[in-house]
Amino acid sequence: MSQIPFIDLKAQYELIKPQMKEAIDKVLEHGQFIMGPELKELEEKLSKFTGAKHAIAVSSGTDALLLSMMALDIGPGDEVIVPDFSFFATAEMVEFLRATPVFVDIDPKTYNLDPEHLEKNISDKTKAIVPVSLYGQCADMDAINAVAKAQNIPVIEDAAQSFGATYKGKQSCNLSTLAATSFFPAKPLGGYGDGGAVFTNDDELAVKVRELLNHGQQGRYNHTSIGINGRCDTLQAAILLVKLELFPEEVRLRGKIGQRYTDHLKDLNLQTPRLMKDCTSVYAQYTVEVNNRSEVQKKLQELGVPTAVHYPTVMSRQPAFAGKYPNQCPISERAASRVMSLPMHPYLKEDVQDEIISKIKQVL
Ligand SMILES: *Cc1c(COP(=O)(O)O)cnc(C)c1O
Repeated sequence: MSQIPFIDLKAQYELIKPQMKEAIDKVLEHGQFIMGPELKELEEKLSKFTGAKHAIAVSSGTDALLLSMMALDIGPGDEVIVPDFSFFATAEMVEFLRATPVFVDIDPKTYNLDPEHLEKNISDKTKAIVPVSLYGQCADMDAINAVAKAQNIPVIEDAAQSFGATYKGKQSCNLSTLAATSFFPAKPLGGYGDGGAVFTNDDELAVKVRELLNHGQQGRYNHTSIGINGRCDTLQAAILLVKLELFPEEVRLRGKIGQRYTDHLKDLNLQTPRLMKDCTSVYAQYTVEVNNRSEVQKKLQELGVPTAVHYPTVMSRQPAFAGKYPNQCPISERAASRVMSLPMHPYLKEDVQDEIISKIKQVL
């Protein structure tokens, strides 16, 4: 039986081949591989797309998180609130700065940080709250921002999976003090390699991020702080510019395909994704909850339908933390044991999707 691809990056490439080759060739010809003109153009377009005043292209989503935290001077002795259910980078960067992640449980419907649990986890040491907009749907940012504002704590949206999603009419990445997104190839706006961006409306934070991503320089060879090399390559910026042209249509297609899955799967013995009112998802993943996950996955695999688990272990339980964070997030644990993502990309054809749906019906 032929295998259905989980994600199909080739289908997109076929649509943009000549423009892509031309864009890459242009960079090869002008030779400004570091901080070339395409970088500035990309940042302008990202700012326009999201509505955020500053968009700063960086080397990856992980570095976007790191630089956002560094710009807030997060370090030893500080606490940073994160949901326990995310890709590891969210908590990893907190720990990397020798600060302490405080793991908060998620809402079982959206898988995002539950604002109900926020207040009791805030202390004098809380330096930031980092909600994750998982699977392509924004966290409940109004509720989170309200708690944060009352206590004067900055919020960083981990928007690695939600670029293009909307929250009550506003774009993801323009909902908090800072936002970090990723252009990893499999993300909604994916490059041909690593990349990411930091967003903010705060002029001072924007200057800080720009300095930190370039070795803490204020002017050439004048290093006023300890930074990193977190620059986005000109080539990657040129690639992303071509892809950004297609992106609004891809967001539309993702929404349509996600909804179509839900329409066909909602009456089965599984839990389909639930969207908050007045919010859209870019379905970075189309993720359902099932009983007996490994058995279902195995049966689907035998029928040629690949699935994936995002993520099988909560962050606090990762071996890197060696058990030092007592687990207090049962809803995150439950999600980690039950979630399963289906093949999802903007070019998933209806007949292929129908085949996936019928095989799921066969298995459940
Ligand atoms: C992908 C991802 C990251 C890291 O992004 P990279 O570009 O791979 O470094 C961080 N947080 C979340 C939620 C992610 O999905």
